[in-house]
Amino acid sequence: MYLRLTDEQKMVQKTIRRFVEKELIPLENDVLRNEREGKPSLPASKLKELQFKAKEAGFWGINTPEEYGGADLGQMMMAIVLMEVSKTFVPFHFGGGADNILYYGNEEQKKKYLIPTINGEKKSCFAMTEPGAGSDTRNIKMTAVKDGSEWVLNGEKTFITGGNEADFVMAIAITDKERHQSTQGREGVTCFIVDRDMGWKSEYIHTMGEWGPAGLVFDNVRVPEENILGELHKGYNLGLEWIGFARWVVGARAVGAAERLLQMAIDYAKERVTFGKPIAERQAIQWQIADSAVEIEAARWLVLNAAFTLDHGEDNRHVASMAKLYGANMGNNVVDRVLQIHGGMGYTRELPIERWYREARLWRIYDGTDEIQRMIIARNLIKGHVKIGQFV
Ligand SMILES: Cc1cc2nc3c(=O)[nH]c(=O)nc-3n(C[C@H](O)[C@H](O)[C@H](O)COP(=O)(O)OP(=O)(O)OC[C@H]3O[C@@H](n4cnc5c(N)ncnc54)[C@H](O)[C@@H]3O)c2cc1C
Repeated sequence: MYLRLTDEQKMVQKTIRRFVEKELIPLENDVLRNEREGKPSLPASKLKELQFKAKEAGFWGINTPEEYGGADLGQMMMAIVLMEVSKTFVPFHFGGGADNILYYGNEEQKKKYLIPTINGEKKSCFAMTEPGAGSDTRNIKMTAVKDGSEWVLNGEKTFITGGNEADFVMAIAITDKERHQSTQGREGVTCFIVDRDMGWKSEYIHTMGEWGPAGLVFDNVRVPEENILGELHKGYNLGLEWIGFARWVVGARAVGAAERLLQMAIDYAKERVTFGKPIAERQAIQWQIADSAVEIEAARWLVLNAAFTLDHGEDNRHVASMAKLYGANMGNNVVDRVLQIHGGMGYTRELPIERWYREARLWRIYDGTDEIQRMIIARNLIKGHVKIGQFV
């Protein structure tokens, strides 16, 4: 066991750090201004330009298999990259990637959806949540009924990330009501790839954060049989796989953001003088800094463990839930303390702390709430699926 990054990992970390400092952090004021004016945080053309710059530096398709032109660096490297890139709130993501479940497509679907998504020519979104079914995904109501060689989809989805911009959605719908009921939702649902021009509509949902998810409406949307992703009636597992990947990623994002925020608090505390001394010399401030630093380190190791476990072909769901639960809460604790240390300035829009504060609140909700992560962790232990301390 060697608890340090390898030379290759350190090199990647350093390169991404330079990219963030040189290309992304200088855009922060523009992002804040755009958002205040109700414009997209980062124009699509600027995002593309940045993605090509990253490509020139060798960062394209970080997790994408080499046969699709990606770097296939693995989950551990992905975690390291995400922790670096999350040190800014500029909403950048590397190009050359696609949703993990699109790789289950057949050759035709790969040509039509996977490859254009990897190349940035098409945008995707994933839709499981409905107005009556969030945590309890078994309660979805959207139906798909076979009519000749097509399926007719009816129902509503809500809070769909990227749903306003997507060219196609991977939507989960009930295809066999009885099977759905008798298996408590595990079977009888299917994942359909549905192009926007097949007829679904999207509507922007205003949230506390800076990017709005969408509500989607399917009113007799006809989808050809060949647009079933994976197996008929077996879409639930695809849904779990999509959500599962997103979980530890939330923890990684929280670590990156918290590191930057804590540094801001340390710098400010050394400069801000009250009652004749910098506030950094007060124990009340020092303890907030110390607690934040300890929690960041704990979250980092949980995230790295979740990524390491996946890279080694093991089931990482238990540790991914731990990384998500702890990381999301750590991020919220740290941003709150950092805002407090900045006093009134922390609450203003002159600094990005309030923006991060609003974004961080989401981390405890999407991709499985705190309560759902706790439920999973406790159930695994009580039922004996996982032993305490198993993942070392
Ligand atoms: C900005 C944003 C983006 C999103 N992106 C997507 C997306 O791209 N695709 C997608 O499909 N979904 C997406 N979601 C949906 C998200 O995953 C759900 O909002 C989340 O899973 C919670 O579901 P809910 O909102 O229906 O809350 P509910 O499930 O109604 O829960 C309400 C409260 O009850 C608690 N609760 C529920 N059940 C239990 C229980 N058994 N025990 C204890 N407490 C419980 C919850 O933790 C929560 O506190 C997104 C949500 C947001 C806000």
